[in-house]
Parts: sequence; C-alpha cells; structure tokens
Amino acid sequence: MSLSLNDAIDSTVLLTTVTDSSNIEADNWTTCYLGLGSNIANELGSPVVHVQQAIEGLRQHDNIRNVRVSSFYASAPMGPQDQPDFINTVVEIETSLAPLVLLAVCQALEQSAKRARLRHWGERSLDVDILLYGQAKIAEPRLTVPHAGLGERNFVLIPLQQLAPDIVIAGQPINSYPQASDWTGLKILADKPDDR
Ligand code: AMP
Repeated sequence: MSLSLNDAIDSTVLLTTVTDSSNIEADNWTTCYLGLGSNIANELGSPVVHVQQAIEGLRQHDNIRNVRVSSFYASAPMGPQDQPDFINTVVEIETSLAPLVLLAVCQALEQSAKRARLRHWGERSLDVDILLYGQAKIAEPRLTVPHAGLGERNFVLIPLQQLAPDIVIAGQPINSYPQASDWTGLKILADKPDDR
C-alpha cells in the first residue's frame, strides 16, 4: 500500500511509526507532564478541538497510560498581541517512552493538527511541550527538561498545580513560584474533564 502525503501525516501512522522505531523501556513507567496550547482554528477544528484530539491521541498510545487532564484555560498571548487568546491545558501521563521518543510523539500530534508556524511566539493550531519527565534534567540540542519557560508561565504553572499541588520543580515546590498564583491574563474555561 502506498501512502499519500496526507496519509503520512495522519496521527495514527505517525504514532505507530514513532512507537515501532523507539527505544522503549517497556516496564519502566515515568510520570510526565505535557503542556498543550492552541489559538487558531483550521479545517480540522477549533482550538478546543485541537487540544481534545491531542489528548485522545495520548490516551490511545500503547506506551502512555493513566492520562489526567487539568481544566482548560484561556490565556492572553505571550508574543505578538494581535492574535487570539490561547486555550491551554496540562496533561499528566505515565509513559514508557524515552524522552526523545516522547518528544517525537508530541511533534507528531502537532503535525496531526496541521500545525503551521507563522511567526515566533505567534499563533498556532497546536503546541505540545514536555514540561517535566519524572525528576529528569535533560539538556540536549532538541530537548530541555524541565521546559525552559515553565517557571515563568502562569498558564502552565496554574494547571500543573491543579493536577499536582505538591510537585517540586527544579528543587522548588510549585507553590513557591510567584506565577503559580498569578492569574493575570488567565481564565478558567471548563471544569476538569473526566479522567479515563
Ligand atoms: P515550540 O514549538 O516553539 O515550543 O518549540 C519547538 C522546539 O523546541 C522543537 O524544536 C523542540 O526540539 C524544542 N524543545 C526543546 N525542549 C522542548 C520541550 N521540553 N518540549 C518541547 N519541545 C522542546
């Protein structure tokens, strides 16, 4: 069977490819936190739909389990101000994927939402970042964990705190980060979706 370009960016195809070629430590599950954001609709749906589809993609992955999702939030954009507010959420997962493979899964989810990057810190159909990978500190060309902006972003810290109120980030309890209690530009949009 030959695949068209559209087939090739289908999430199932991409996620399967990533899984098959990965360095999976099958019995070693690590709790990770992902930050999801979207602020443009496209032919696939609204920002909320992009985020929901990504969560569904995570739930369906064989090497990801126990997915928990924070409330959805609306947040003012960080970069250019002439763009819509973002929808943000944080997702807790357990995964047996190695960090760079998890990054590839996150990027495949972005591609599934037909992500187009128009400008730096600009609008996007989907952004999926690895915020924390267990207690790991990772400094690789393609991956920095904890995520570089984590400590300064209320739209990440507040939903993360909702899921994990006692979590320690880079040696500091989350509630000691000023942005974890600063609601500037942030609104809660929906009750926490059911955990499945
Ligand atoms: P952006 O989509 O603007 O958030 O940035 C994407 C780039 O950041 C990609 O090239 C990734 O390789 C890199 N990156 C570095 N650390 C991370 C991380 N913790 N999560 C997601 N992407 C990361």
